[in-house]
Amino acid sequence: MRYNYLIIGGGIAGVTAAETIRAKDREGTIGILSLEPHLLYSRVLLPLFLKGRIKREQLFLRTVDDFEKNGIDLFLEKEVMSLDPGRREVRMKSGEPYSFDKLLISSGGVPRPLGILGEAKRGIFRLQSIDDADAIAEYIPSVKKAVVVGGGFISLEFLEILSVYNIPATLVCRSERFFGNALDEAGGELMAKNFERRGIDLIFKDEVEAFGGKDRVSAFRTKLGSVFDVDFVGVGIGLKLNDDFLLGTGVSVSPGRGARTNEFLETQVPGIFAAGDIAEYFDVTSGEHHTHGNWTNAFLQGKVAGENMVGRERVPFKSVPSYSLTNLGFHITFLGEVNGEAGTATVSRVDLFKNKYERFFMKEGRLVGAVLINMFQDKPVLTELIERKVPIGDAPDKFSDMAFDMKSLT
Ligand SMILES: Cc1cc2nc3c(=O)[nH]c(=O)nc-3n(C[C@H](O)[C@H](O)[C@H](O)COP(=O)(O)OP(=O)(O)OC[C@H]3O[C@@H](n4cnc5c(N)ncnc54)[C@H](O)[C@@H]3O)c2cc1C
Repeated sequence: MRYNYLIIGGGIAGVTAAETIRAKDREGTIGILSLEPHLLYSRVLLPLFLKGRIKREQLFLRTVDDFEKNGIDLFLEKEVMSLDPGRREVRMKSGEPYSFDKLLISSGGVPRPLGILGEAKRGIFRLQSIDDADAIAEYIPSVKKAVVVGGGFISLEFLEILSVYNIPATLVCRSERFFGNALDEAGGELMAKNFERRGIDLIFKDEVEAFGGKDRVSAFRTKLGSVFDVDFVGVGIGLKLNDDFLLGTGVSVSPGRGARTNEFLETQVPGIFAAGDIAEYFDVTSGEHHTHGNWTNAFLQGKVAGENMVGRERVPFKSVPSYSLTNLGFHITFLGEVNGEAGTATVSRVDLFKNKYERFFMKEGRLVGAVLINMFQDKPVLTELIERKVPIGDAPDKFSDMAFDMKSLT
């Protein structure tokens, strides 16, 4: 089968790209190949479903009819195994070929395996797909004691879900504090105190080494030798990008880095684009390549990639990435680049009594990122400072003062 526009992945990036293409090109043929058996659903809402706040059907964002009306051929349970850029062709697991004029890679990622003994036992969960959520929903009512592994957003989701079910939990993080390098000591302490207030036991600077139990998990052991009884494990240690089929095609730079693009989200192979979690895109704001795993980023990149695939005009992708969630009483936002890579200076301010914290990441005299805990009101001004690359001069000297108004910089 041949398509003018072929899309790998039926997540928010892929579906948004398909719909954007259709709005601009009424005639071109569009096909989406997607591994999952489900129509587009919101991953962001999965935790709300598990907390009983929304019904399962509210997760779904499109119907079969929506695709039919738009003349978009959606193929579910189709796994792309290889890409031949020269022949403009992809091949399925079954060997079946699909060829294209233009291709979008929006294959996202899957939870990274822990790679340890007993990992496949019943009761050990990831939270990435609706199938994961269904399995957790069925299992969780019988759980007595849980462990959550990892120090990122998905672990926070697990902890809050467990708290809704009043299940005592232990958190195990390899790093010395939650969110690793994104927080400094003060931020780590604020997070830890909040966990403790909610009865969560904390283990930092240690990691799970093995899971015990016959068929179902019943215990875990850490590298430093602690042993605990548990009947539920939630693992949130990040994503492995679905880029295996890109190896050797010239589309990815190195394994696990996704598909590298320019600012128009086009890879170095003309006519092959990438969007969403899988895209290692050229970020015009920072002048560097980045990947970002967040919903808005995937949606906006789907739009820009779709426009550029039609190709009437070339639109650069420009956005300050942000990830926000409210969890265990804290409102947390990550804005821009917060991984503290080389050449980045940081300043933080904290009010331990009011549970407020902010950390600023700066490079070459301008703000490049920020972590906000219960400081959401600063998000618009910080976004503007990052986006407009406003020189901040000696202002960082005052950033540690809670009374300093960031608006004075704009
Ligand atoms: C529980 C949870 C909560 C989240 N909460 C937030 C939040 O609060 N805020 C936020 O901004 N973000 C959040 N995110 C992240 C956000 O959901 C993702 O960044 C976003 O969904 C990525 O969309 P995507 O289209 O790039 O990839 P995906 O949604 O991963 O879609 C990729 C699709 O490609 C398919 N695929 C993979 N490999 C192949 C292949 N070889 N062949 C064919 N198809 C393939 C997959 O099956 C999948 O359907 C959350 C994620 C999770 C899991």
